Amino acid sequence: MKVGLVYDPVYLEHDTGDHVENSRRLVEAMSYLKETGIKEKLTCLPARPATLEELEMIHAPEYISYVKGKAEKGGGWLDPDTVMSPKSYEAALCAAGGLMVAVEAVMKGEADSAFALVRPPGHHAIKDRAMGFCIFNNVAIAAKFAMRKFSLDRVLIADFDVHHGNGTQDAFYADRKVLYFSTHQYPFYPGTGWMDETGTGEGEGTTVNFPMAGGWGDEEYLRAFNEVLVPAARRFQPQLVLVSAGFDAHWADHLAMMKVSVTGFVQMATILKELAAELCQGRLVFTLEGGYNLRVVASSIKAMFAVLLGNSEIDDPLGKAPVARKPDGFDEHIEAIKRIHHIG
Ligand SMILES: [Zn+2]
Repeated sequence: MKVGLVYDPVYLEHDTGDHVENSRRLVEAMSYLKETGIKEKLTCLPARPATLEELEMIHAPEYISYVKGKAEKGGGWLDPDTVMSPKSYEAALCAAGGLMVAVEAVMKGEADSAFALVRPPGHHAIKDRAMGFCIFNNVAIAAKFAMRKFSLDRVLIADFDVHHGNGTQDAFYADRKVLYFSTHQYPFYPGTGWMDETGTGEGEGTTVNFPMAGGWGDEEYLRAFNEVLVPAARRFQPQLVLVSAGFDAHWADHLAMMKVSVTGFVQMATILKELAAELCQGRLVFTLEGGYNLRVVASSIKAMFAVLLGNSEIDDPLGKAPVARKPDGFDEHIEAIKRIHHIG
């Protein structure tokens, strides 16, 4: 089992100071991968910068030159949440490019699966604007790249970051070639992602939103995956599975209120791996989105690699969420989502 790791020190040069989305997230994750002996089992894939033409598959040329110009002037804020340093443009190019390297390796069979440990993250970035710590939409660019370079007709993007990937949804809202599935706390930043947002025109039905009430955890996420994602993916028949992996739905991540554990992330990753094996020769590429508790991020990333490597042992150093009363109504909620998407 050959599992690719994309990482580049340039990702640390997107210097956000003491912002929650900072370089320590990757520093700790990389040292944990070394410490636990996982790194030596991985195939290192060198990142590359995305080309302008590739970025323009998703972003407006004026926006790209605005970001470049901002970096040349020393950086600054792109939106109230998203800050840039002089090297952020370069890092952002290599984040999108790194994910494309991972996709290419998996499509060519040079790796069975891969995880791109990139920053800045991407899933909130829209055509002409940075949002929510994201500059360019890495996963959307990679999906377009896969469709163009390898003539794919169907790509599944599964997004379990605690925030709704509004930028990814936007990019493919009218596109029947991309099935976008997202679980996210709702209502919450960025405000989008209710279950009735299902796509438009030719893309009607290929956006599947699974909003979650703050306080739900592993059990609810697993049911969302097993009862909605799995049947939707089987119906769609993807040729590649991309995963926007954010670890901010973890109970110890204080940006949000979900109660997922590392074990829960492992179970979700296992479902994704089994789906990819069943539907598209195992082609599965993860990319890092959010996750702000450093221990959670490091142990979850390590656990994702363990799943990809085929290791069934779950190492969850933080354990399950402390017991708390959960919001009611999950059964009615999942039934409503299944009805909207004509699932069983
Ligand atoms: Zn997030």
